[in-house]
Amino acid sequence: MHAEMLVLRFSREVVDKPIIYRLVKDYDLEFNLLKATIYPRKEGLIVMELRGHPKNFRKGIKYLRDSGVKVQRVAHEVRRNEERCYQCGTCTAICPTGALYIQRPEMAVGFDASKCSACELCCSVCPARAMEVRLNQSVI
Ligand code: SF4
Ligand code: SF4
Repeated sequence: MHAEMLVLRFSREVVDKPIIYRLVKDYDLEFNLLKATIYPRKEGLIVMELRGHPKNFRKGIKYLRDSGVKVQRVAHEVRRNEERCYQCGTCTAICPTGALYIQRPEMAVGFDASKCSACELCCSVCPARAMEVRLNQSVI
């Protein structure tokens, strides 16, 4: 199974076509829609995670490009804004990888970016919004 976060940009010429439907039906791919801004006869934008067998994934991406859709891969990482973090420790209870942890004996909250899986669970629980998602986009 291969999965990637993608940004799809639709020109006004293709925005009304059932492209996502074909992606699922013809290439056996699954998607998780994160954001969609589509207006009839105008340009559109979709942010989604697309997943499936690697061979089908490649074919699906080719289908998108051949259909006139601009496809960008989104790589993202989660970082801590040190100025915002006030060391409350809430995030350490939810972090599944141990990237956020209590440093003893000083009881400070540490962040080891090399252990972070970018799952974003900490972003939703942090009361200070100190855990930030950074997106890097590249055309594929
Ligand atoms: S929940 Fe937010 S403010 Fe609290 S320790 Fe974690 S990053 Fe810092
Ligand atoms: S994004 Fe996930 S793995 Fe990374 S620090 Fe936050 S909770 Fe931990």
